[in-house]
Amino acid sequence: MRCKHPLGLFIAMDQEWTTRLKAAQDLNIPTAQILAPQESERDVSLIKKMFSDADIDITVVFCGFEGESYADIPTVKKSVGLVPKDVRAERLAQAKRIADFAQELGVSQTALHMGFIPEPHEQDYHAVVAVAKELAEHCQSLGQDLLLETGQEKARILLQFIEDVNMPNLAINFDPANMILYGSGDPIKALNHLGKYVQGVHCKDAKWAEHPGEEWGEEVPLGQGDVKFMDFFTSLLTARYCGPLTIEREIVGEQQIRDISRGVEYLATLRQRVWKE
Ligand code: MG
Repeated sequence: MRCKHPLGLFIAMDQEWTTRLKAAQDLNIPTAQILAPQESERDVSLIKKMFSDADIDITVVFCGFEGESYADIPTVKKSVGLVPKDVRAERLAQAKRIADFAQELGVSQTALHMGFIPEPHEQDYHAVVAVAKELAEHCQSLGQDLLLETGQEKARILLQFIEDVNMPNLAINFDPANMILYGSGDPIKALNHLGKYVQGVHCKDAKWAEHPGEEWGEEVPLGQGDVKFMDFFTSLLTARYCGPLTIEREIVGEQQIRDISRGVEYLATLRQRVWKE
């Protein structure tokens, strides 16, 4: 089978989402991953119509939760995903509702940042495995895959976690820049380690922090950071990854659209070299 690797764009469904959708359409990007809007704004028929009119397929719906903060690495640990104990049950319920929303949109993959997965010897590890299993089972009942975004833990922990959750529909959305931003390991080595589970990727770039793991690296436009994209795509080829290449640029406004546009050109050049397209 010839892999197509369609381009994609990550679209946060905030007040600028229609601008991003228009940009994707103008750039001939045929797929998108979306960050689920707040519950009161999940207008399924409107969203379906807008994406359909733009001729863009939604491939993944990402979960986001109120109270999450990416201010610094310790704050992420305390606030992101299904790991923080005080909000775990409520967020699990919310994540299930997001999977239901994805189902209504006709999307077969739901994704999330689990949060910082504890080391397997830590006390809370098995409880986090259980919560991921429950969410994966819910997604399975909807005919969906559940994708875990990479970055907050080292590849070996994520691999063990996936094997311990042991659900056939549990997979990875691989974001090489996150590995750099969080200082959680070399992204290419991680991809080579996790390749068989990769069902989605983010094309995002970043520079290492001076003290990786203690402070944030810096997210930068595609091609300007420390992700070795030639190696990244070669590893995707080895892993027989055939899914979308979804551009993610985590800024807002006009600069975001400009960077996405340049990112499309950058990826087109690399695709020709790696995939001989
Ligand atoms: Mg990402």
